[in-house]
Amino acid sequence: MGTRTLEGKIALVTGGSRGIGRAIARRLGRDGATVAVAYARDEAAANEVVEGIRKDDGRAFALHAELGRHGDAASLWGAFDAYADDYTPGGAVDIIVNNAGIGRSADLASLTEDGFDEVFAVNVRAPFFIVQQGLKRLCDGGRIINISSGAARLALPEIMAYGATKGALDTFTLNLAKELGPRGITANSVAPGIIDTDVNASWLRGNPDAEAHAASLAALGRVGQPEDVADIVAFLASDDARWVTGRVIDATGGSGL
Ligand code: NAD
Repeated sequence: MGTRTLEGKIALVTGGSRGIGRAIARRLGRDGATVAVAYARDEAAANEVVEGIRKDDGRAFALHAELGRHGDAASLWGAFDAYADDYTPGGAVDIIVNNAGIGRSADLASLTEDGFDEVFAVNVRAPFFIVQQGLKRLCDGGRIINISSGAARLALPEIMAYGATKGALDTFTLNLAKELGPRGITANSVAPGIIDTDVNASWLRGNPDAEAHAASLAALGRVGQPEDVADIVAFLASDDARWVTGRVIDATGGSGL
């Protein structure tokens, strides 16, 4: 049981059905927040996350939200409103966690315009418009937490468009902090290194050499787990982090030291 520091708060977590988003949703739920677990296609997995939070005496609901196309942010908030009577008075929200994201492996030569558009649509456009269209609901003193990547600050030519999306997200975060600071709203990015989730399963899991290499990249000598990221998000969401804004918080276990 967490310390329930977020009792009475309402949190939206995109991509909350698996991986890092699932760990964030569970942790915020344990801390007492009512969690909207947004999912794209995996409704059953989102319902499992909701059930897990409820078993911890928390409050949560699953929210269908495919992201990346024009109008998707409006649809997300429309779906959110459908829960307003039960969970969110007036459709208010205290914590927005933009976690949903996709990676696309493509170097400069092989990157297609469609591939570029897709990764920017999900990783950049969706967070922009979720925040823009959520602003009137976001309470003063609220929190915006964007899940970025260490790749924003590394030269990784094989995933250069992905890295560029996270760089754009970090710049968005910086501007949000400035614009929304007068309302006591903080905006921060969390930038994970290699985390053991489905996106890395194909090359990492069951491959001891790859795991040893990935572990060696972190000063702390292991591969990151979703909970390592979720705990940082929980701190940023809490009142203890009220004086931290406009920052990119490293969640790499000390990569590149
Ligand atoms: P994941 O693939 O397990 O989860 C991604 C989530 O985003 C899923 O819930 C998925 O449904 C959702 N999503 C993807 N496309 C979507 C769309 N079009 N509409 C709505 N939802 C969509 O990956 P993860 O590792 O948990 O990644 C979560 C976040 O962390 C991403 O933003 C990712 O870029 C970032 N990140 C991950 C790592 C890592 O090593 N795993 C490292 C750095 C940053």
